[in-house]
Amino acid sequence: MNSYELFDAVVVGGGPAGATAAGDLARLGHKVLLLDRAGRIKPCGGAIPPRLIQDFEIPDELLVAKAKSARMISPKNNKVDIPIEGGFVGMVDRDQFDEWLRVRAANDGCERRVGNFEKLSRDTDGVSIVHYMVRSSNKNEPNTSMAVKAKAIIGADGAKSGVGRAAIPSAKDVEYVFAYHEIVRTPDLPPADFDGSRCDVFYQGTISPDFYGWIFPHGKTMSIGTGSADKGFSLRSAVADLKKITGLENIEMLRHEGAPLPMKPLKKWDNNRDVVLAGDAAGVVAPASGEGIYYAMVGGRLAAESVSELLLTNNPKSLAKARKRFMREHGKVFLVLGIMQWFWYISDKRRERFVKICEDKDVQKLTFDAYMNKKLAKRDPLAHIRIFFKDLAHLFGLIKV
Ligand SMILES: Cc1cc2nc3c(=O)[nH]c(=O)nc-3n(C[C@H](O)[C@H](O)[C@H](O)COP(=O)(O)OP(=O)(O)OC[C@H]3O[C@@H](n4cnc5c(N)ncnc54)[C@H](O)[C@@H]3O)c2cc1C
Repeated sequence: MNSYELFDAVVVGGGPAGATAAGDLARLGHKVLLLDRAGRIKPCGGAIPPRLIQDFEIPDELLVAKAKSARMISPKNNKVDIPIEGGFVGMVDRDQFDEWLRVRAANDGCERRVGNFEKLSRDTDGVSIVHYMVRSSNKNEPNTSMAVKAKAIIGADGAKSGVGRAAIPSAKDVEYVFAYHEIVRTPDLPPADFDGSRCDVFYQGTISPDFYGWIFPHGKTMSIGTGSADKGFSLRSAVADLKKITGLENIEMLRHEGAPLPMKPLKKWDNNRDVVLAGDAAGVVAPASGEGIYYAMVGGRLAAESVSELLLTNNPKSLAKARKRFMREHGKVFLVLGIMQWFWYISDKRRERFVKICEDKDVQKLTFDAYMNKKLAKRDPLAHIRIFFKDLAHLFGLIKV
């Protein structure tokens, strides 16, 4: 047996899922290492709901903009503005947001290291060894291979998780939407139709054949992007088109970047022994909306709870509770959003009807309640019935668009 340093838990990945998990575990008194490869800003529109701001105590100064309404734009260019009554959607810049979360986790007592996760192995006593590589800052010097021992490991290393692939065979079978966006400087004289407190969402086949395009305000900058699971579809050309139709084609681009978004939660998040996944690594991004930050943080919190239980009881079944608890709370929303994406996002005809449906005040209220508060609203059962019949009317073409 080698003399590796031993941690109660190693959290791989310092995004919203990993930073939340590491901070929570450290606060519970465990010895935690937060390992992040660093050096790359996560490509992300940065929209976060009030429920996240409240549950995870995000300070106001991290919000670079507050969106007070959303505009849905149909293939025929019909526009439906949905006010966010009594609230707002917060916009964060991920370089600042993620680093703030990691600093908070370190202040809560976890140790932070920069390193690239490489593989898992087991020591002769059966405890896992986490191998990682530290890049040399000097090109002429070799990188350093490092390893620590961990009683438990949280894989929060994002989509296509290395920890997932190393510990959970089914982690390889995930399907992805690929999303791409450009960070551009908000012009001093923006086009007349631009509103820095509104998120614009484009449901148009030319912008995305199966997802949507967006323009999100971030104060001094904007995120202009789109996504699709169709590998033959050019996301860059679609963003160029989006800029053209909105009068933003000559705008100054600061960065452009893309990343995969998992389309479905994995069936298994743990290895029945000492590894559990959280966030994108567990496939947890809401279908139809692509919202992942809130769900990553919830996943990180639940993974930390299940690891803490494992450390206290030695019962590996504790790890499966992370997924069970998550699906109990959010499974229905994921199911409804999945059906919505599958049904409404497949043709311009359907998209036109979908945007039309969004004119309905009941739909607006229920959708925004679900987004803002992360609950399918139960308050007004009649609204569900009204929507059900209106949906049917749309499906059978009884309502003209
Ligand atoms: C273009 C785009 C726009 C999006 N817009 C939104 C939006 O507006 N709102 C929203 O809620 N969601 C959005 N999402 C989704 C959201 O970004 C993700 O769901 C969220 O970041 C998931 O958090 P995470 O912590 O699970 O993973 P990540 O944020 O991906 O963090 C993973 C971390 O792991 C680290 N890591 C990776 N590999 C290794 C390794 N080998 N060793 C060590 N560390 C490693 C990375 O450095 C990173 O810090 C968007 C995604 C994309 C691609």
